[in-house]
Amino acid sequence: DTGEMASREQLLEKDRKYVWHHMTAHNENPMIIASGEGSWVQDVDGNRYLDGMSGLWCVNVGHGRQEIADAAAEQMMKIAYTTLVQSHIPAIELAAKLNEWLDGEYRIFFSNSGSDANEVAFKIARQYHHQNGKPTKHKFISRHRAYHGNSMGALGATGQAQRKLKYEPLGVGFQHVPPPYCYRCPFGQTKATCSLQCAKAIEDAIVWEGADSVAGVVMEPVITGGGMLVPPDEYLPAIRSICDKYGVLLIVDEVICGFGRSGEKFGHLNYGVRPDIVTMAKGMTSAYSPLSATAVSAELYETFKVHETTSHFRHINTFGGNPVSCVVALKNIEILEKENLVARSAFIGNMFQERLQPLLEHPNVGEIRRFGSALGIELVEDQASKIPATAERVMSFIASCKQKGLLVGKNGDTVPGFANILTLSPPLSSTDEDIAFIIDTLLAVFDINQEKG
Ligand code: PMP
Repeated sequence: DTGEMASREQLLEKDRKYVWHHMTAHNENPMIIASGEGSWVQDVDGNRYLDGMSGLWCVNVGHGRQEIADAAAEQMMKIAYTTLVQSHIPAIELAAKLNEWLDGEYRIFFSNSGSDANEVAFKIARQYHHQNGKPTKHKFISRHRAYHGNSMGALGATGQAQRKLKYEPLGVGFQHVPPPYCYRCPFGQTKATCSLQCAKAIEDAIVWEGADSVAGVVMEPVITGGGMLVPPDEYLPAIRSICDKYGVLLIVDEVICGFGRSGEKFGHLNYGVRPDIVTMAKGMTSAYSPLSATAVSAELYETFKVHETTSHFRHINTFGGNPVSCVVALKNIEILEKENLVARSAFIGNMFQERLQPLLEHPNVGEIRRFGSALGIELVEDQASKIPATAERVMSFIASCKQKGLLVGKNGDTVPGFANILTLSPPLSSTDEDIAFIIDTLLAVFDINQEKG
């Protein structure tokens, strides 16, 4: 109706004048999302879309949760802010709850964003390796294609040239190795010949950099935003053994994989490894309020208690662990537990796996990969050559999905010419109808005859 059209035009006018958009600085025609319920969002014109990426891999419990809003309001009226130099009830309860969700005992350091949580992990790892106030091990190994955040250290850990080149020098000491990417194995192997060269590459990097100079290995359980690269099952356990062998800390970035998205409480639990440090954000509050955490193993924490002045971790973050965010996280986790959404995530993923197989009939679909309910569809120019689909082709599939009411993502401009992986990761609370809608929409966009499928 014309009233709403006028209001969108007015908003756009201001948006074009004042808002600097993330990533696409000159998006002249952004969606202006006004509300959401469950797995659906609505723009100011009243168009509804299924939020196939949970915002940005984060709205795990879905939109419009009254109980979260109530908990936040109640906390705001009690005390909206106090520092964590002292303590407060929501932080205490949340740190304890996170210990139930993790396997083993961890100390929890709260911050605001995934990038913050990773910076804290790097500083803790470096300080842990200090001796008599002097740095010893300071380097970190991470993988190409991985994303770990936007700040100088976290961007240093990120293995994506496109995001980095204009901003160098970044945090120093970050070395990258090829990722486990079985569809395009960087070591020319196949499933049959695989001898985990990708894990060996991490050991080589540690040895060649000098084991005495490497503080930690940082990785997501599965590279998500960098292309949904699911490693062989033995990969993460192999990395754990390598880290143990060389006295290097294993830092696992659960910013996306955590809080059920992987079909387990945390992604690394799928592989039975115990990290030294776990970072988390996004799904921790389902994005209702900004919050992140760096969970540090109790053994590691103990070494920070030895001497009050030389061993304390000198890091403060004004809003980190804000009480309102902590109660939001607690309510979010309560919903995940009450509604069994971790198991639901695995179920959703299984539905995708079964019902989306027919997509492989399409010449532009090279591979379908999945971790819990997170899905990656690698698009190619043709299946034999595996040449990555052109940006235009990828955008046209994304536009068709949007036109049919489904928002999907793609891996960023990770590597020039390789932004060819569609990603889907809907809220874990998605109903059967929501999931059917996603599947039917994808089958229709790829023009798969559903009778046949
Ligand atoms: N790590 C991973 C794996 C991420 O995907 C992201 C964000 N996409 C971050 C860290 C950084 O989180 P934030 O944007 O909250 O700083």
